[in-house]
Amino acid sequence: MIAEPIHAVDELRDLYRELILDHAKSPRHFGKLSDATHSANGINPLCGDKLNLYLHIDQASKISAISFEGSGCAISVASASLLTETILGLDVTTALAYFEAVTMRMTQPRDDFDNGIDVGKLRALDGVREFPARVKCATLAWHALSAAIQQHSEPASTE
Ligand code: ZN
Repeated sequence: MIAEPIHAVDELRDLYRELILDHAKSPRHFGKLSDATHSANGINPLCGDKLNLYLHIDQASKISAISFEGSGCAISVASASLLTETILGLDVTTALAYFEAVTMRMTQPRDDFDNGIDVGKLRALDGVREFPARVKCATLAWHALSAAIQQHSEPASTE
């Protein structure tokens, strides 16, 4: 069956809903990262979402490992899971550009923000714009990412 163009938006929305449910049920990169160089936690008291985000940033400023743990609503877990899939392997500058692009898309009334980042399937998270109470659920992991990268922490040294 060929879909009528008028249904395309609804179908896309259904696909995105499935993507979010899938990531909420089976979060990717879930757990603690034993060799993390950077980490940050995030709390969204409005909803009760909590997470810790772990990064391993190598000498070339590349995020060579990433994971998260925590608990929260489906949107917060799916957003964190999608984040880990997207950010793994990127350099920190590009990761921060994703942070900016994704959080702008989720908080602005229009989707014309463009800093050169193609957010791809992260568009699935844009729907929270219609539900202001859920925006913090969806942005929580991204703020944790930004905080973790900007902590510029060095591994503890006894030298
Ligand atoms: Zn939530």
